[in-house]
Amino acid sequence: MTTKNLLFLPGDGIGVEVHAEVKRIIDWFNKRGTVTFNIDEGLVGGACYDAHKVSILDETVDLAKKSDAVIFGAVGGPKWDDVPFDVRPEAGLLRLRKDLDLFANLRPAIVYPALADASSLKRDHVEGLDILILRELTGGTYFGEPKEIVTLEDGQKRAVDTTVYTTSEIERIAAVGFELARKRSNKVHSAEKRNVMVAGVLWNDTVTALHKKSFSDVELHHILADNCAMQLIRWPKQFDVIVTDNLFGDVLSDEASMLTGSLGMLPSASLGAEDENGKRAALYEPVHGTAPDIAGQNKANPIAMIASFAMALRYSFDLGEEAQMVETAISNVLDKGLRTGDIMQDGMEEVSTTAMGQAVITEMEALS
Ligand code: NAD
Repeated sequence: MTTKNLLFLPGDGIGVEVHAEVKRIIDWFNKRGTVTFNIDEGLVGGACYDAHKVSILDETVDLAKKSDAVIFGAVGGPKWDDVPFDVRPEAGLLRLRKDLDLFANLRPAIVYPALADASSLKRDHVEGLDILILRELTGGTYFGEPKEIVTLEDGQKRAVDTTVYTTSEIERIAAVGFELARKRSNKVHSAEKRNVMVAGVLWNDTVTALHKKSFSDVELHHILADNCAMQLIRWPKQFDVIVTDNLFGDVLSDEASMLTGSLGMLPSASLGAEDENGKRAALYEPVHGTAPDIAGQNKANPIAMIASFAMALRYSFDLGEEAQMVETAISNVLDKGLRTGDIMQDGMEEVSTTAMGQAVITEMEALS
């Protein structure tokens, strides 16, 4: 029997509530006895600021580096809108991404059959949709220097963000994209803005060269990021894997989330490079935030968080069967008509966060 070490960072708002449902699923696996998960827990975001006046402690980052996977909830909320910029809740997450070198962010957008009508698009546009947006996560506009607001001689202020990418940064994310595509429908769209940004020119050249050198069996398309945004709405099924930079990936993956119906359904994984022992740093989190409008009311949809844990089972622990069991349980619960408020439809039964979590466990019990 193997033991896996998880670091739980629930964060703020509904992050705490949806985390509790994953904890119950882990308890279920632990009781079953084929795999054992040890859980350490830490503070991050606003909760950490309230306790320690920083958004994450150094010792928590060290624990994250030692763990087999970090299970992250969400951070932020109006309560911390006025805290200093460098200790704002999001800074804790950005530091984890940077210190663990989590350069590859996987965001699947899958439309469960029972939810095809919940999408903003027509059923035939999204039914059976299964696309993966792969976002570069540690470079580009969010980290490039200079990043500053300066006061000019005439008293005006000027803000500067800088988009920076090196060849190796582009190569390593593109390689992950090609490798994932080989396990899927073997098609990659690389999205950038080479028409107006030199970072886009280098991105395009580098992806083209890597494709030619090592991945010529994979179908590669280059697409301008703005056209990609349009095509995602026009006909999303044309895509399989979309690989793109940090800024465009942030926007395109949120757009893709609407194809699936609700932010509450979207899991994500962030992976680092493999070390010499083949171990990859990894952080799993739902795409959604802390949802202050429903926090503390037992209304949050826990499926994105639970599905993020299923990604951990698959990508960090090679437990594909267990991952599939969790995903099938989610699909079955939806087929039976259970819905949290965000995905509620006529004729379905509205349930709470805890009831949805329990229903997934009941299905897992039935499947095992
Ligand atoms: P949000 O994702 O928190 O909420 C957007 C809308 O979707 C809300 O109406 C919310 O109720 C709904 N929603 C989101 N997740 C849901 C779920 N699981 N179940 C049911 N409904 C759900 O985004 P926001 O309102 O823009 O941000 C709120 C706070 O969260 C802000 O402080 C923001 O900075 C933070 N945030 C954090 C992360 C993160 O930690 N990774 C990501 C996004 C936003």
